[in-house]
Amino acid sequence: MACETTDVIICGCGPTGALLSAYLGKMNISNIVLEKGAEITTDPRGIALDEDGIRLLQGAGLYSSVYTEIGTCMQKFKFIGGTDPVLDKRAFIEMDYGTTEGGTGHVGFICHKQPALEKCLRDAMAASKYCDLRSGCEVTSLSEDDQGTLCQYRDATGEEHQIRSRFFIGADGKTGFTRKQYLEPRGILMEQAHHLLQDVAFPEDFGGQGIASGFRDAVSLAWRLALLCRTQSKDSSFHKQVLKAWYEERKQQLEKSLASTIENGKFVTEGNPLKILIRNVYLWFVQLVPSWRHELSLGRRKEGLVRYEHSKGMPFIPEHNGGLCLPQVYCRSLNGFGTDVRFTDDVIFEPGKNGLFQLLVYVKAVEEISSAREVVSDIDDMSHGEILANEVTFLVEDMADAPCKIGHDVFRLASGDEFAQSRLCANRPRPEFFDPLYLAKALKGKRFTIVRPDRFIFASCDSREDLRKIAGAVAVHLQG
Ligand SMILES: Cc1cc2nc3c(=O)[nH]c(=O)nc-3n(C[C@H](O)[C@H](O)[C@H](O)COP(=O)(O)OP(=O)(O)OC[C@H]3O[C@@H](n4cnc5c(N)ncnc54)[C@H](O)[C@@H]3O)c2cc1C
Repeated sequence: MACETTDVIICGCGPTGALLSAYLGKMNISNIVLEKGAEITTDPRGIALDEDGIRLLQGAGLYSSVYTEIGTCMQKFKFIGGTDPVLDKRAFIEMDYGTTEGGTGHVGFICHKQPALEKCLRDAMAASKYCDLRSGCEVTSLSEDDQGTLCQYRDATGEEHQIRSRFFIGADGKTGFTRKQYLEPRGILMEQAHHLLQDVAFPEDFGGQGIASGFRDAVSLAWRLALLCRTQSKDSSFHKQVLKAWYEERKQQLEKSLASTIENGKFVTEGNPLKILIRNVYLWFVQLVPSWRHELSLGRRKEGLVRYEHSKGMPFIPEHNGGLCLPQVYCRSLNGFGTDVRFTDDVIFEPGKNGLFQLLVYVKAVEEISSAREVVSDIDDMSHGEILANEVTFLVEDMADAPCKIGHDVFRLASGDEFAQSRLCANRPRPEFFDPLYLAKALKGKRFTIVRPDRFIFASCDSREDLRKIAGAVAVHLQG
């Protein structure tokens, strides 16, 4: 049997596999996605996607489809008590997910149609020459050796094929081939998947955590795969370290969202009448104070963006503010007047940039640009070629337009009102409670921030000496 080769095989083209493929495509990593279904399944499934999920769709280039083909803003979640089939009654608590205060620049949730979401993801894959979706193709066997993996699949006509790849990713759900026919027969259970440090990773949805969890896994895995595909190193300890850190970070995200789901579940399924009474009186009282009512309406967003707890080998520097999810705000280019409002992720990770990690320079006023530019001019050397000076993004806090063109890489913050008047706000609510300084607060006033492709801060600092130190640490993490 002839044998093809590719960098990454993805088994399963549900939302997780499709988003992983799209991100790998953006990083120029060849991948083949084997999907046993001939068409996208239309079974009723996911309907709610949180703001992280919206942000990661945006990263795949799909923002223009979010409020057109994929879904609509979900607005208020009303929690009502009782078992009688009457929905039209006073809520004991109300969460407003139509506002923009979670730190991503997006509304809290959209309500979507999963097949429409999956179609858009497949469109994003089709736009990249690095992504190759093969529908009607079922993975039937898998083996591993030092060179990578050998996978066999059966196509829609029943013909068998094989592909050799550096990595095989199981994104085929909890009852799919990877888990049931490959991992479990080898004694690898989901709870121990962190011991799996060979070229097989195991992203899947967990405990009903849904699509956004799969998206987070996919995006944080994509850049690590790109890194491992790039380094031809046969050093398996480097592979292990990179994938172990991925697993340990994802575990923290899952534990956090699982804990809050369990807490919410307990809260809304309470059956003890006394406890229900106490809950309702307490919530009624709390909601008498407008600021407390507002805080309750934030739901999970009041905890702020995720910050990872550091452990050895994780690619960020905690003492330099690393490990925090980078907030996203709105901005405008200072390369002329009347420029479009943009999302900061879209300018930091502009298509065409080649560095895996990016440098964001945040200054208060345009006058500071030239000195900051001088400091970052030798970032290529400082980072041993990992961060490129010609890809640095400069962001100015002062929202006044500059009197003349400053440079294609310089942007200023944009207000919620400017966003509301831009095409980015079409079909979604105005960005209520949006804080343009959310990013500055998270950066703690630091001027230089190195950002990972999964939108987490690697490290922030102010001085040239510290920049040299943290850029050197990037090289250590990315070059082994
Ligand atoms: C009723 C219901 C309601 C839900 N509501 C929500 C919600 O509101 N919000 C939310 O976020 N999530 C929700 N979910 C969960 C959501 O649908 C899943 O989290 C999501 O589909 C998981 O995506 P995935 O890509 O990881 O896996 P899947 O969507 O399961 O995709 C796996 C793919 O792998 C393919 N496959 C399997 N075996 C093989 C093989 N051997 N070879 C090749 N391909 C293979 C399958 O055909 C499938 O297409 C809901 C689920 C259900 C059932």
